[in-house]
Amino acid sequence: MLGSILLLKKLKKHLSLNSTRLEQIQLKKLKALIMHAYHNVPYYRKLFDSVHLKPEDIRTVNDIRLIPVTDKAALRGLELSEKTAGNVNIENCLKVFTSGSTGMPTNIYYTHEDYRAIDLTYLRSFLHNGLRFTYKRAFILDPHSFETKKRWYHHLGLAAYENVSCFAKPREQVIALRKIKPDFIHGYPSSLALAAAVIIEEGITDIRPSLVSTAAELLHSKDRELINKAFDVELYDRYAARECGNIAWECDEHREYHINIDTCVVEITNGNDPVNANETGDVVITNLHSYAMPFIRYKIGDIGILSERKCLCGVELPLMRTVEGRDEDFITLNDGRRISPMMVTGTLDFVPGIKQFRVVQENMEEITVLLAKGNDFGQDTISKAEKGLKDIFGNGIKIKCNAVEEIPRENSVKVRAVISKVSAQMRAKAKNQA
Ligand SMILES: [Zn+2]
Repeated sequence: MLGSILLLKKLKKHLSLNSTRLEQIQLKKLKALIMHAYHNVPYYRKLFDSVHLKPEDIRTVNDIRLIPVTDKAALRGLELSEKTAGNVNIENCLKVFTSGSTGMPTNIYYTHEDYRAIDLTYLRSFLHNGLRFTYKRAFILDPHSFETKKRWYHHLGLAAYENVSCFAKPREQVIALRKIKPDFIHGYPSSLALAAAVIIEEGITDIRPSLVSTAAELLHSKDRELINKAFDVELYDRYAARECGNIAWECDEHREYHINIDTCVVEITNGNDPVNANETGDVVITNLHSYAMPFIRYKIGDIGILSERKCLCGVELPLMRTVEGRDEDFITLNDGRRISPMMVTGTLDFVPGIKQFRVVQENMEEITVLLAKGNDFGQDTISKAEKGLKDIFGNGIKIKCNAVEEIPRENSVKVRAVISKVSAQMRAKAKNQA
């Protein structure tokens, strides 16, 4: 507990440091991670050797451009022993599931020390946004992401929280929120926006949190307005990924997102090369707290922009924004609900026996699901997948699951896990009208 308090104090102090000092901290951590990965992780050793690079060659943060970018497919194709550190006992690590946008469930491993740093970096941004330990919290999330771990402040009787499933109908979520009366609400933009619409429609005014925060999906400006109006606050969004924790977050300026350069390196690239500031490109991250399974120059699947602007709030962490989320579609249902692809991938990630999946909404009546068989594919894999999806979509749409050996590759370069032909038509229509 004392370790956590001291680390939090240190991380909070970083917010008052100037950019030079922050960059020094980043470089020191980067050098240590590179050295560790080179000597202990076979994949990175080979990657470095392939371009005749030694850890000592990384003298500045910009020198990491000498390391080739790694994408999801490359890491996923590796044996665990190839991509994890030989000197870290994986059995003792925390395991996190993710499939991101690719529909290929995979595990990420964190040492407890790294996980603590990532966790506290999140907390730092929440505290900066005004969170107090005495606040009662409500989390509207996928139940797989519910808090189960007791943090040090919970042992002190602080930060009471309640979870609300994002799979619950928006009206039910609103009923739960009225009961909880939270000071702090955190959830996905898509599900908070649906709840917000109910709140506005029904003229509900007794859910008045001091702080609302969103993460994990691209926040559309319309959803932001809706949520702000419903809760009568200005929400704070953050950019995060399972492979890296909290990458960037909004301050009171609500313009761009401060990058946590003391815990990660963010580049915006076109292929291996960085693009200029204010230009769009692929977000490539290096997680400086990834000693069990390092992520070094890892293409995360989002499109972003780095800013050269200095923030008026005084925090000297540099700024960025994302412009396109993970390349997926929302599923549109007859009852008007729009289901986030994250809810779909989050559900199928936890069905054992699936190597890869693809969910395609053909029309308003039918969703077809391809499940590529993994090693532990069993009799009940299909029925479990069907049940999980039914829980999200309800009975209004037919769900057809088929087991296959391999998912056929799409013509496009990006492999997408969730595709909605309905959303695609709606987008095309909107474009024509514009
Ligand atoms: Zn700021």
